[in-house]
Amino acid sequence: MSLQRNESDQGFRSVKDMTHRRFALLGYPVAHSKSPKMMAAAFHEMGLRATYEAISCSPENLGLTLDTLKQRGYTGLNITIPHKQAIFAYLDWVDETARSIGAVNTVVLRDGEWHGYNTDALGYIRSLSEEVSLKLPGMKVVIWGAGGAARAVGHGLLLEGVGELSLVNRTPQKARELANDLSKLRLGNVQAVSMESAEQDVRTANLIVQTTPIGMTGYPAVSPIPSDWVRMGQVVSDLIYTPLKTTLMRAAHERGATVHGGAGMLVHQGAMALELWTGQSAPIKAMRQALIAALNEAK
Ligand code: NAP
Repeated sequence: MSLQRNESDQGFRSVKDMTHRRFALLGYPVAHSKSPKMMAAAFHEMGLRATYEAISCSPENLGLTLDTLKQRGYTGLNITIPHKQAIFAYLDWVDETARSIGAVNTVVLRDGEWHGYNTDALGYIRSLSEEVSLKLPGMKVVIWGAGGAARAVGHGLLLEGVGELSLVNRTPQKARELANDLSKLRLGNVQAVSMESAEQDVRTANLIVQTTPIGMTGYPAVSPIPSDWVRMGQVVSDLIYTPLKTTLMRAAHERGATVHGGAGMLVHQGAMALELWTGQSAPIKAMRQALIAALNEAK
């Protein structure tokens, strides 16, 4: 198979030196990703001879790409949209958390076998606990959106003991499906709530997690959640990290709420992936600095 650099499927750097470690991000598209800069900073800080490339791989090429990466000595991968579910078909083993969430974002090559993990859920929890003082057990939480990120975050929050979880989504059926899946954990009271009747849930929540792309660069700079529903004493967490401060985050801050952005989750999910690949602890501070610098540079 020849992997050539072209517009839809980027080729691989031909690395002749086998002494260094090779890692990559697989997605479609991935050109916008800041993970290569974040990982380069981590390797430098760790004194690790390693490369990390963002490889654009179309869904139909996923299996062949994995085979080629294995042949070329890659031992760790990050997996992003749209491959987080499709990758299951090519893995030799998947850990329980990733199976339960239904998505893999980290792959490790062990004894010639691809092993799949999900570091999004715990990455989110670590970021939240690092940046915000919050006692999650028993809390009332609203998650806005019901896609892959909502699935991972909901899973992580339920494992942390949140008491009540309401899911609000543009497509109500998807919120119901996610509520049904998360209820199977038997860890809290999970319900789907329609957008029309979400006001009371948002107003009374301790934590509101925004997981849609509304407010992200490239989308209208609006808040998906009416900001006058937010008040002092609540925590508003937006998974978006471009921009670093979304319209929702600014409005919530003005209304006295505590605000948490998405950059920390990106850092922690990457740090956990790096730890799985290398067995060494990841330099969180250096990774965060590199990510913020790259995001500011791209403004
Ligand atoms: P996804 O699986 O495609 O889900 C997107 C969700 O947003 C769905 O619930 C979708 O609703 C909703 N949505 C999309 N466009 C909408 C619109 N115009 N109006 C209302 N709702 C809309 O994507 P994802 O993987 O969950 O990612 C979602 C966001 O989280 C992205 O901004 C991504 O960058 C961010 N994220 C951040 C991190 C991090 O590390 N900080 C990690 C993962 C994701 P429908 O069901 O109705 O389509």
